[in-house]
Amino acid sequence: MIPTVDETHDPALRSWVRSANDGRTDFPIQNLPFGVFRHEGSGERARVGIAIGAMILDVSTAMKAGYFTGDAAAGARACAAQCLNDLMELGRPAWRALRAAASALLRDGSSAERDAERILVPMADADLLLPARVGDYTDFYASIHHATNVGSMFRPDNPLLPNYKWVPIGYHGRSSSLVPSGSEVRRPLGQRKAPDAPTPVYGPSRSLDYECEVGAFVGTGSSLGEPLGMSAAAEQLFGLCLVNDWSARDIQSWEYQPLGPFLAKNFATTVSPWVVTMEALAPFRIPAAPRAAGDPAPLPHLTDDDDARRGGVDLALEVWLRTRGMRERGEGPVRLSRARFSDMYWTLAQMVAHHASNGCNLRAGDLIASGTVSGPERDARGCMLELTWRGTEPVRLPDGETRSFLEDGDELILRGECARDGAARIGFGECRGRILPAPAN
Ligand code: CA
Repeated sequence: MIPTVDETHDPALRSWVRSANDGRTDFPIQNLPFGVFRHEGSGERARVGIAIGAMILDVSTAMKAGYFTGDAAAGARACAAQCLNDLMELGRPAWRALRAAASALLRDGSSAERDAERILVPMADADLLLPARVGDYTDFYASIHHATNVGSMFRPDNPLLPNYKWVPIGYHGRSSSLVPSGSEVRRPLGQRKAPDAPTPVYGPSRSLDYECEVGAFVGTGSSLGEPLGMSAAAEQLFGLCLVNDWSARDIQSWEYQPLGPFLAKNFATTVSPWVVTMEALAPFRIPAAPRAAGDPAPLPHLTDDDDARRGGVDLALEVWLRTRGMRERGEGPVRLSRARFSDMYWTLAQMVAHHASNGCNLRAGDLIASGTVSGPERDARGCMLELTWRGTEPVRLPDGETRSFLEDGDELILRGECARDGAARIGFGECRGRILPAPAN
């Protein structure tokens, strides 16, 4: 069952945390995403918090102060852990109860305001860590626009492979190299081979790229050997974040056949710190993207009425670039693209159901990324490979610099927001990373 709208989404709600009410914050009281934090540079034990305006609600401290009861208290107790996994394992009743209790606690008029100093931490004074201990990370390829663009560069006559409209294509990624937003990313070394060169060379990647993706955290998990139906798959979704799947295109094009991406992708993947829950996203659920006339209907195990009606998420994604020069001149980042997550060919529940369809088990904290989110328009291409058409049409920046791929010192920022009439706008915060030069080789 996909979560539905309730009183926690009322756009009229206001918080006693003033920064949550300014209309610009990603974290109004209608959002309440979960993350893991500690006081900046303190080395203290990390714990789970809830973003509210420019502050973080320290859930464990609020728990000790007696603010949670019942299912919410079970959830709040799990927030003493250094990752969201314990909370994820409790399941949707606890997630929903904890979010509802946090909404009540942070609302105008709540007596919790008198404990503000004790239970709130300024976000500016906190280090935000990876939200979950990710056992397994899977990356899908669910944008037909991305798949068609990339396919047409490599196979102009046959851009989309015949399985694409039947199978949510994915590969197993690497969880050890997931890093939190703000981490610096070293340009990878690797093998690359020009088409006309007799042999490959080993050295720094010359075509380092980003991929703007949405990540979904698995909640309770599933049992080995037992496929999940579509409705059970939707029930597995705890919440969403932003993911940058850094990609070395030259390494990728040389290594990818026959087993797919390997070292081109697993040197770093950046994850945004705040997990926007499926509860918070309820006002922004929309029908799954319509399929083009003549496209096959998904097979029955990937079909579900509720998913067809509300399996999409009306989420706008933006990619911003700040070069070293822009930073040195004190200039802000420039937007490279803007795309809609609602344009994806497969829904999140279809990706989860497909993942488990052979009996593969999922575990709490597993991360499932959507694949590059691209739309049909030119300015909706979610990676530089597409935006510059493999480097042949460089992007011109306002200061006259150009980019075919990322250069050392470039900082890449992903943003996401959900907005519509009749609902409070909510955002995802940022997924940010800066490129460092390659190690010596
Ligand atoms: Ca990817």
